[in-house]
Amino acid sequence: RAKAAGKNCFKFYDPQIQRDIERRITLETDLRRAVSEQQLTIFFQPQFDQDKRLTGAEVLLRWEHSEQGMIPPSEFIPLAEEKGLIISIGLWVLKSACLQLRTWNMKPGWEQFQLSVNISPCQFRDKDFVSDLRELIIETGILPHHLVLEITESTVLEGVSSIIEKMNALKALGVRFSMDDFGTGYSSLSQLKQLPLNELKIDQSFVRELAIDANDEVIVRTIIAMGQNLGLTVIAEGVENASQYDKLLAQGCKHFQGYWFGRPLPAEAFEHMYQSASEYIHNS
Ligand code: C2E
Ligand code: MG
Ligand code: MG
Ligand code: MG
Repeated sequence: RAKAAGKNCFKFYDPQIQRDIERRITLETDLRRAVSEQQLTIFFQPQFDQDKRLTGAEVLLRWEHSEQGMIPPSEFIPLAEEKGLIISIGLWVLKSACLQLRTWNMKPGWEQFQLSVNISPCQFRDKDFVSDLRELIIETGILPHHLVLEITESTVLEGVSSIIEKMNALKALGVRFSMDDFGTGYSSLSQLKQLPLNELKIDQSFVRELAIDANDEVIVRTIIAMGQNLGLTVIAEGVENASQYDKLLAQGCKHFQGYWFGRPLPAEAFEHMYQSASEYIHNS
């Protein structure tokens, strides 16, 4: 009790900082409850190819707080990572994603549909991650090559050889890998070329100013060329308008995700929205 009181007893003179700290403490308590009370949910943002055919979706976590409304992942995922909650939350996301994937893959026209799931560095590092995912794949009966794990460059910083070993163990299960937010981290190309990646995701910061910043145009063109030469799928994220899409297309980009194509949606709305889009995916 003394310890708990002591911990919470710091008073800052800046009322804004004080409020932020109190909000974080409340959020932590609430987040623990959110997991057990099923306030967490997943949304799906569509991904398209150059023929505007639906190829899959990225799974994005949402927290519907009873009083504060929708809390964005940028706010609670760092907290979940700090408090070790991300392991169980991440596993819940994976399981929910696998169950949805199996359902969707059984729909006519959706047989090739893929789901990409964000994996945080501590979740990836967890010693049980490979065996947990193996169990999930068996339990849910998904086709593992339809599951894409999105990792970031910060995952790789932990020491490249242990990461490669783990990625290869996961690759042996059949799952695929995407490097998210590519170009914003601190990993080197010599590290990256050693990883068994399938996809690079061009970070949205490069896409944002594509039509106005000549440097971003060079960066994007370079990422596309490099990725394709390495045999990787290159997908642009954060595509918000037609001019960004046109620029990307002109530079040879073949895969797209962003508000211009579609916002993240709950499963039911997603299925309804893309019902017809999917019908010609693999029939054409
Ligand atoms: P991310 O993986 O890079 O996901 C893309 C983010 O960009 C999503 O934000 C998405 O809603 C947003 N976005 C998509 N299209 C556009 C666009 O055209 N313009 C703009 N401005 N934004 C766009 P969201 O859902 O808020 O997620 C933020 C980050 O939180 C994600 O970035 C990811 O790092 C993390 N995250 C989300 N779900 C999970 C999860 O289940 N597990 C883990 N570990 N992290 C997650
Ligand atoms: Mg992502
Ligand atoms: Mg990203
Ligand atoms: Mg991000």
